[in-house]
Amino acid sequence: MSIISAPRGTRDILPSESWKWSYIINQAALTMKDFGFSEIHLPIFEHTELFSRGVGETTDIVEKEMYTFNDRGGRSITLRPEATAGVMRAAIENNLCAQGSSARLWNWGPMFRHERPQKGRYRQFYQIDAECLGIANASADVDIISLSIELFRRLGLRNLEVVINSVGCEKCRPVYRKKLIEYFTAHKDSLCETCLARLDRNPLRILDCKNESCGRVADNAPDIYDSLCDECREHFAQVRLGLERLNFAYKINKRLVRGLDYYTKTAYEILSGDLGSQNAVAGGGRYDNLASAISSSKIPGVGFACGLDRVMLVMEEQGCSFGESPRVSVYAVAMDEASRGNIQTLAYELRKNNISCEYDLTGTKSFKAQMKASGSCRFACIIGSEERENNLVAIKDLNNSTQESIALSEAVNYLKTRL
Ligand code: ATP
Ligand code: MG
Repeated sequence: MSIISAPRGTRDILPSESWKWSYIINQAALTMKDFGFSEIHLPIFEHTELFSRGVGETTDIVEKEMYTFNDRGGRSITLRPEATAGVMRAAIENNLCAQGSSARLWNWGPMFRHERPQKGRYRQFYQIDAECLGIANASADVDIISLSIELFRRLGLRNLEVVINSVGCEKCRPVYRKKLIEYFTAHKDSLCETCLARLDRNPLRILDCKNESCGRVADNAPDIYDSLCDECREHFAQVRLGLERLNFAYKINKRLVRGLDYYTKTAYEILSGDLGSQNAVAGGGRYDNLASAISSSKIPGVGFACGLDRVMLVMEEQGCSFGESPRVSVYAVAMDEASRGNIQTLAYELRKNNISCEYDLTGTKSFKAQMKASGSCRFACIIGSEERENNLVAIKDLNNSTQESIALSEAVNYLKTRL
């Protein structure tokens, strides 16, 4: 029979790596707590409409990257390609921002996009996501940006660059849009086919195109800062002031966009110098019109999503610490057949007391083989006929090979002081 492999663009995160992921998630949880964010668990699939309306019909995600299917009840379902729309849906549905109150929510988990798999780009990938809902003030933008920077600082990432921009709002963007259409129409010949198709539907996205020729044209495109309304201009100034107050270095890139009507004002990305072409480790921004795109509510919001797979790659590349690698504390060893039952009892006793322990589950390993297997543990707890008769256990320190005989009833206390 042919071997069934994991689908293209997915991969298994094996024990040799999974403990490092746990470390990152734990650091994220601690950082979120320090910034006053609470965890929210969301469905992995939603109604397709949430994303077509909440991410946008003219985005790459909705146009060509979604995993969409009809379920057995004939409803169109999509595996979530990102988290923001789901968080907003949950906040609206559960009244988390009722009467002008705010909610700071974070979550992490798998996202799904049908993309061409390559280093740092997968079809099932993982994001850590934080959203601050209900606050229109620029302090919320600064809070979100500083949260992501602080997370990366704690993880020890170096060589990062924070890039920010403002994409305006529904008042000033139409003017800018018009200027862009005029400008790009005049440079039609230098645009790629995708951008030609975007010209009328979503000219802002041409600014973001990775194609070299489009890039050259985009570099000289009209500047959004000349079009921003007073409110957006002031908001952008406040964001910059906040970042400067916190001593964060950042760059302004007028070509950084979230090319949709409900993304407003701040857009930002954190780039790594150690990732090659998939260089964004996090992206985010403000979306004051998202709530009204998916409901009749009006809730401003700002958030970011960090690509966990890429953070892992950078951390490995830069030799960052993942804390202590997991090590089982005790290997329980039976010197003879008759002691195997005692070992099972001892192991459970230790485990009940939060001392991690393993032993030979096959029940066939010789004393020598068990001692060899104990090598990766901190202590070996050995029971043979003499220990059985006198209610003792021999505890061997595997760091220095010294051994002591302890009353069985004292084993937990003894190990607790030694670990
Ligand atoms: P890119 O330009 O690299 O496609 P994006 O703009 O589509 O990124 P966002 O939607 O802003 O990405 O998602 C936030 C973060 O999630 C990205 O900065 C990246 O770290 C990560 N990410 C996005 N798509 C993938 C993917 N297919 N595989 C792995 N990580 C991803
Ligand atoms: Mg993408």
